[in-house]
Amino acid sequence: MKALIYTAPGETEVQEVPDPVIQEPTDAIVDVIATSICGSDLHVVSGDLVPDTGFVLGHEMVGRIRELGSAVKNFSVGDRVTVSPAPYCGACASCRGGNYAHCEFGGVYGCGETYGGFAGSHAELLRIPFAGRDMIRVPDHVSDESALAISDALTTGAGGVTKAVTQQGRTIAVFGCGPVGLSALHYATIWKPARLIAIDPVPERLELARQLGATDVISAADPREDLQRITGGAGLDAAIDCAGVEATFQAALDSLAPEGFLSIIGIPHKPVSFDIAAALSKGLNLWTGLADVGPAQTIMDYIADGLLDPDAIFNHEASLDEAPALMKTLMTSRDHGIVKAVIRP
Ligand SMILES: [Zn+2]
Ligand SMILES: [Zn+2]
Repeated sequence: MKALIYTAPGETEVQEVPDPVIQEPTDAIVDVIATSICGSDLHVVSGDLVPDTGFVLGHEMVGRIRELGSAVKNFSVGDRVTVSPAPYCGACASCRGGNYAHCEFGGVYGCGETYGGFAGSHAELLRIPFAGRDMIRVPDHVSDESALAISDALTTGAGGVTKAVTQQGRTIAVFGCGPVGLSALHYATIWKPARLIAIDPVPERLELARQLGATDVISAADPREDLQRITGGAGLDAAIDCAGVEATFQAALDSLAPEGFLSIIGIPHKPVSFDIAAALSKGLNLWTGLADVGPAQTIMDYIADGLLDPDAIFNHEASLDEAPALMKTLMTSRDHGIVKAVIRP
């Protein structure tokens, strides 16, 4: 099969590699219909996330089941499925405690040996371990793009929202409107917020944020004054940080009401400082962590029922052969206008 291989820092290549085969009775093999490029892929290819090279990239996928291991009884060949980016066994101590992100036998597709050595989804075929547990059936009327959103951006965004938003009718701000930020913002609409505020310097992303449910948008580099105005001086009930930079952590902290909630799901690329004394005097509720893959089925149900429609986030499409050039563009340019790119192998 053809697959997109991480060959050296900054470099990817489409190569012919052996087809994956069933290794365990709990495996499935799927024909990849579509796979999307994630910021994590770029992080891997930048060379500073993992030391090894020579593996298939990608962890966001929708596909059709080609073959099932003998122990997978709850799916059929031909089913259209998506899968969590982080395979989990469901049986180890971490999984039994509901802590799937730290499964002893888990990892992340397409991130090399450091993350379990699971070959990625930017390929014609994908082997899915623990398939009966990890796969989610995609209803016929749900688009490939929506299924791709569930495989990472929307579950990650939802995780941040769920930890910060505890009631309907609250005032919520999302800092940073990349794919995860837009997904968090869109997911927050489930909570029927009184105000849902998108903050990002890029006008096109704010336009998308409006389409996805933002009631207010802020493009100012320092959003604190606008947030004070929009909240009538009361401050935010919840802030979701998807930007991962020191300035937005501070702006969020300053803009939250007393006892407010801050979820940090944007990953800083270097250590940042954070004013603990200010957080303490505010009684800040702070959460950060990895995406919780548990609620993926619930999110699929929201999409199937028409409560969520994240498709607008996917605004570029390419073939597998075009993927190396696309990766270069995404890594080297800032004004490409692509929010999330889909590859159709
Ligand atoms: Zn991803
Ligand atoms: Zn486990």
